[in-house]
Amino acid sequence: MVTRTIPSTCTECTVQCGSLVHMEGDRLVKITGNRSHPSSRGAFCVKGMNAPLASRTNPNRITYPMRRIGERGQGKWRRLSWAEALDQIAERFGEIKVKHGATAIAGACATFNYSRGTAVRLLMRSLGSPNLLINQDMCHGARATAALLSGFGGMPGNELSKATVIMVVGKSPSESDIVEWTNIRAAKAQGARLLVIDPRRTHVARLADRWLAVKPGTDAALALAMIHVILTEDLHDRKFVETWCTGTDELRERARNYTPDVAARITTIPAEEIIETARSFASTRPGSMVLGHGIDAQENGVMTALAFQSLLALTGNVDRQGSNRFVKQVPGFRGHSYFCNEPRFRLPAAIEDKIIGGARFPLWCGSGTYAQAAHNPSVLKAIRTGDPYPVRGMYVSGTNLVCTYPDQQSTVQALSALDTLVVASDVMTPTAELADFFLPKTTALEEEDLFIGRSEPCITLAQQIFSPQGEAKTDVEIAISLREKLEERGLIEFDVFPWSSHREFNDYVLEDTKGSLDELRQTGFRSIDYGYEDYKKSGFRTPSGKFEFGPGKLKSYGYDPLPDYKIPSFLGAAKQFDLVLLTGVRSMAYHHSRFRDHRWARRIKNVPEITINPTTAARLKISKEDWVWVETHNHLPRALLKAKLSDTVAENVVATGMGWWYPEMAGSSHGSSVFNIGVAVSYGPPFDPICGSPAEARNTACRLVPADRGEVEALLEGAELPLTD
Ligand code: SF4
Repeated sequence: MVTRTIPSTCTECTVQCGSLVHMEGDRLVKITGNRSHPSSRGAFCVKGMNAPLASRTNPNRITYPMRRIGERGQGKWRRLSWAEALDQIAERFGEIKVKHGATAIAGACATFNYSRGTAVRLLMRSLGSPNLLINQDMCHGARATAALLSGFGGMPGNELSKATVIMVVGKSPSESDIVEWTNIRAAKAQGARLLVIDPRRTHVARLADRWLAVKPGTDAALALAMIHVILTEDLHDRKFVETWCTGTDELRERARNYTPDVAARITTIPAEEIIETARSFASTRPGSMVLGHGIDAQENGVMTALAFQSLLALTGNVDRQGSNRFVKQVPGFRGHSYFCNEPRFRLPAAIEDKIIGGARFPLWCGSGTYAQAAHNPSVLKAIRTGDPYPVRGMYVSGTNLVCTYPDQQSTVQALSALDTLVVASDVMTPTAELADFFLPKTTALEEEDLFIGRSEPCITLAQQIFSPQGEAKTDVEIAISLREKLEERGLIEFDVFPWSSHREFNDYVLEDTKGSLDELRQTGFRSIDYGYEDYKKSGFRTPSGKFEFGPGKLKSYGYDPLPDYKIPSFLGAAKQFDLVLLTGVRSMAYHHSRFRDHRWARRIKNVPEITINPTTAARLKISKEDWVWVETHNHLPRALLKAKLSDTVAENVVATGMGWWYPEMAGSSHGSSVFNIGVAVSYGPPFDPICGSPAEARNTACRLVPADRGEVEALLEGAELPLTD
């Protein structure tokens, strides 16, 4: 019987839904959505229900520090005390710093939107290194960079439930964002018009009034053609555009190159469909747009996002009720992605300028950019070659680089070449297998963290429900302990990590909000007041104070500032690679490479799949139960995936997810060197010239080769997680 219900926030993905943790004494009974939560209003997914407890009680969990005693990847470890582990790590990092300088040590985390990101970033800065790797070059980065340049100030929020027309581009919210999915269905039920642009017939496409199965990689041409229609037919919000936008004439000129007929040839969407979609979006207000990771990790990702965000500005759907909102700042709240920008946490400019990739991608790596992160492929290259300077040590927390970065082989080579690799994790992953030191991390139910709600602005709290298992520590605690050991050796150069407990850290995040952690623990969230049309008070966050169709900042860095289409490089592939491979398709069961050892998740999806149109499958003599080798045109190793026949993809398109591994399988890669599509996908070059994302990580050219059944059985040996509890 439930005796206590604790309001909290799910942190198993970045949607951050409000949750209720139901307890019977000290036993967790279940986790459900919190209907009172202003951001998620009860929306909750299967991951949020299952993953937090399964992660905490995972039989594979490692809850003490270890040091590698065999060769890398041999799986031979010795248990250490925390004091021993931290002493030895500090010693090793000290040697690297003395020999190569602080910049030779890099940090890596999945995202800076959690305390772990801030902890790793500021630990590196304490040492004097500006080098932090994040995974957002693969997801979010291009869209957020465009939003910062054009004037939204960050990824715009959307007010889907109040919109009368919704455009969804390159995203399947039914798998990746339960809050958006719930709001889209609610809006549709109230009569909103739904327009979906996606090469796949996703759940949201099936619900749509109009589904445009765009040719992969050509979305920018489609957006520019819609801009052309709207401007030619005078469907734009003239008053808003004249008052609040710059570069309209230049945009009109650029869009003139993309008449619906031209765009039809590029995108394979009939001209009439393009015209009707543009009219549909522009003729009803308010309209809201969902831009997904389908347009990230392309050669033209920032420009594609800029083109769609320009559609929002043209139609006046900016920071108005039911449209796309500005990022709402909560007075005094120090959001993880922002407070590292405060002068007291910054490094001297001469050091920040050394960030790897900064010279080539200043709008990704530089201060004041969305990411302020190193360019991952350039760091991996620096490890392998010493160019532009050596990187010899790495501290990786909560991210499985081997499975989530493209070109797995190069990542493994780079990590294996380090003098010292430290990995903080809750389980042994293919990345941790390569480490010199393993540090045990807490899981979601053992940590307290604070965020701003994504859908509806509010302060939302993830509560610590349990004490950590074994000797596990939070990232903030690990960073504090490691900083102390580094300080004892005189290795801390900059006082940018001033906290001595996780509680102190969280108090600092809240300090100026006039609220306290203890108050938040009662409710799990605090609603905030916010208004619309902030630009009328403070202008847009651009040099001109207006929405810039051709961002001046892009021009000042020597880029063509106007959105444009670019022919995807994979279209030049040799003829035998006649299929377009889409990667990164989201799953209800998994978040990136996580949960592959959770039985609840494996019951939903137990194998890495590739979706193939039945006609294509018949042509290639592939049947339902077959496995296929996926070979891309990039001369990388091939990946083995199970065929799933479905007409949700066109005949020339195949689609798969990302990050597959079999935790139960022997060997340091745990099957990922065969079954993870990341082995076959390039991490560039070429890159998006603005944000540095790899050009062919999301879409590339491939061919399929049916695999021999005997070979598949041999390769699958050991992939046998029992599915019953
Ligand atoms: S979408 Fe699911 S996993 Fe993500 S925060 Fe919400 S409940 Fe958690």
